[in-house]
Amino acid sequence: MAPMPLVILDRDGVINEDSADFIKSLAEWIPIPGSIKAIARLSRAGFTVVVATNQSGLGRGLFTVEDLDAMHLRLSSLVEESGGRLSGIYYCPHRPDEGCDCRKPAPGLLDAISRDLGIELHNAVIVGDSLRDLQAGLARGCEPILVRTGKGADTEASLRAAGNPLVQSLKVFDSLQSCADYLIARCTSTRKPH
Ligand SMILES: [Mg+2]
Ligand SMILES: [Zn+2]
Repeated sequence: MAPMPLVILDRDGVINEDSADFIKSLAEWIPIPGSIKAIARLSRAGFTVVVATNQSGLGRGLFTVEDLDAMHLRLSSLVEESGGRLSGIYYCPHRPDEGCDCRKPAPGLLDAISRDLGIELHNAVIVGDSLRDLQAGLARGCEPILVRTGKGADTEASLRAAGNPLVQSLKVFDSLQSCADYLIARCTSTRKPH
């Protein structure tokens, strides 16, 4: 049996509603309808699901690690209540001007995931709503998928307007829910005996 691939999810705008003012507290962390069930379904289908998220609000002093931990505990708990499991939540705490190697589009978070879980990235899927999510994945040979939630519809429009060649082959879904439907169906069909 082929190994089930790794699915790396962006957080804000993919799992929970995004805000231009940052998501600074548990009260502001609001799941996008269907996203928790989508994660649980991917997990139950055998995918290893992890989150990789830029959280420069930490470096900017807009919230604390405790605030972030509370959001991530809620996320993990909701996924578990839906019968699934997240294998990790990785975040970059740095501001853009710090020049770290983990703020997407840099692939540092992906490398950490690969190292910790012992899973190679070239079969992984990365799901995001921003170009930098896709770029981080492309830097490590992951398959990029764009969702139209969060900034995703704007990202798709600007990629098309710019004639970015990435859109030719890019898969785009309305939400994590429809993305999960696709990934689960694809994996089921490729595992059928010939
Ligand atoms: Mg995002
Ligand atoms: Zn960083």
